[in-house]
Amino acid sequence: MICPDLAVPSYIIFSADAPPLLYYSHIPAIVISLFFGFFVYFKNKYSLISKILLSMSIVFSSWAILNLIVWTSVNSNVIIFSWSFFGILNVLLSILSLYFVYVFIEKKDVSIRIKVLLGLIILPTIIFTPTRYNLSGFDLTLCGCAGFEEKYFLDYYYIASFLMFFWILFLAISRYRKAEQKFKKQIVLLTIGIESFLFSFFITGFLASYLADIGYLKDYRFEQYGLFGMTFFMGMLAFLIVKYKAFNIKLIGTQALVVAQFILIGSMFFFAQSLTNQILVGVTLIGTTIMGGYVIRSVKAEIARKEELQKISDALAIANQRLKELDLTKSEFISIASHQLRTPLTAIKGYISLILEGSYGKVPAVIQDVLDKVYTVNSRLVHLVEDLLNVSRIEAGCIQYSFVQAQLEPLVAELVEMFTPTARSKNLLLQMRLPKKPLPPLTIDPNKIKEVLSNLIDNALKYTKEGGVTVTLEGDKKRARISVTDTGIGIRAEDKENLFEKFTRSKETTKMVASGAGLGLYVGKNFVEAHGGRIWAESPVPSEGGQAPMEGDGADKGSRFIIELPLVNPKIHIGISDQPSPSEKT
Ligand code: ADP
Repeated sequence: MICPDLAVPSYIIFSADAPPLLYYSHIPAIVISLFFGFFVYFKNKYSLISKILLSMSIVFSSWAILNLIVWTSVNSNVIIFSWSFFGILNVLLSILSLYFVYVFIEKKDVSIRIKVLLGLIILPTIIFTPTRYNLSGFDLTLCGCAGFEEKYFLDYYYIASFLMFFWILFLAISRYRKAEQKFKKQIVLLTIGIESFLFSFFITGFLASYLADIGYLKDYRFEQYGLFGMTFFMGMLAFLIVKYKAFNIKLIGTQALVVAQFILIGSMFFFAQSLTNQILVGVTLIGTTIMGGYVIRSVKAEIARKEELQKISDALAIANQRLKELDLTKSEFISIASHQLRTPLTAIKGYISLILEGSYGKVPAVIQDVLDKVYTVNSRLVHLVEDLLNVSRIEAGCIQYSFVQAQLEPLVAELVEMFTPTARSKNLLLQMRLPKKPLPPLTIDPNKIKEVLSNLIDNALKYTKEGGVTVTLEGDKKRARISVTDTGIGIRAEDKENLFEKFTRSKETTKMVASGAGLGLYVGKNFVEAHGGRIWAESPVPSEGGQAPMEGDGADKGSRFIIELPLVNPKIHIGISDQPSPSEKT
């Protein structure tokens, strides 16, 4: 029964007669709102928004405490005194809610004009609260303890409260449209939280007051449910803080959950009727609090570790970006330098050829010999510059391919013929093996494949002292394979891994042949992969038809380089090539 019996001795707030729901709805809401208000305030003392939130929670708790007194006290003076504050606190709470939402969304204080307007709205309640226009008497017939509320005063404060309710809604909707995506969500959460609180708080109070007034509802118990709205609002604020670091507060979800759990279990005290139950709730509360403390500590440690890792990875990302920029600058430099070198070197090559061919008259034998050497050295330089240019184009992603349908047999034959004099001068046997039945034409860029293959044959001859080099072409229905096998110095196990990286040369080869920059295989791999094919090396050379051992040291056991190209490559369309780069055109 909600009406205290005047004969039963009762304390101001705690009464044996009061229904458990009364305490359950009031006390946790008071504790939560005060806890939250002070928590946000102490975390962020100087911000306006935390001051407003603290004021809201104080006003709300005052209302709830006075309400408890009204429900439980038997002293009519105390009841009437407490009751008289409801109107002013209601209006103040709604004005503070509007102020709170405004500052949260706009991130600035309201203008003086609005402050004056809000002041004017609350003014009548300040003036009339202590007068008989607020509460005019004490109605003993209605439940034995109800204040007699004056209609105009009641109307005024509910109208003012609902006005604030709609003002908040209007403000939120109009700002929502302009806000950025992340902030939109925050506006929605805050508005739902605060509006549901205001709505449940006012509507239940409103129904209780008006329906009771017209004698329809015989008690005011309705009111008690409105207070749960505050807990919901605080839940929303906690979520905003955890998810979006609202109010600039760092709070981890675990902390919020542990506190919520503490309050929920603590609230059960108001329901626990027997001593046994109260002891059980107490033990559970202590147990969960201790465990919660451990959980918070471990989560915090985990977060600290993650933040540390994040810092390191951010620093790495910056360093990486810097490296990429440097790499790009380097590629640009190489590209420009190579361009400047290529033109004079090609001119030198052309003139020496003309001299050697006798276009400027007969060349004496001594000079011929010197010129041959100059020609060879110059050719190497041209080759190197060409490789450097290719590397810078690959890195800038602007290699241009001209795919056509072509046979591989003539291409292989031409290169073998071209290298035969070199092989002969080194006393090496250069042979070629072609398939009995010609392979179908492939979609390739013949110049690029020629460049790759000529580098492989050149390497094989360079790194072989005795024996020979065999170029084999074979194929099946799906792919064509060109392999270049030599009986040379082979490849050591430790060198195999990085063979196709740029600027990679093994110690042995550097000792054997000083020239070479370690770029040919890198360029070749890029060209072959652009054809949808693959290239790899085997050393030691497997026996005829045998499988190459994956591991093993190939030093002095010869090497084999294999290019595999698909017969049909759906990714390549004839006539379509990569964008020509400015460097390609020159
Ligand atoms: P370069 O020959 O100009 O040094 P490449 O990129 O063509 O550059 O070759 C890279 C490295 O691969 C060579 O320096 C050499 O160590 C190794 N290599 C290439 N071909 C052979 C081969 N036929 N036999 C042994 N080692 C080879």
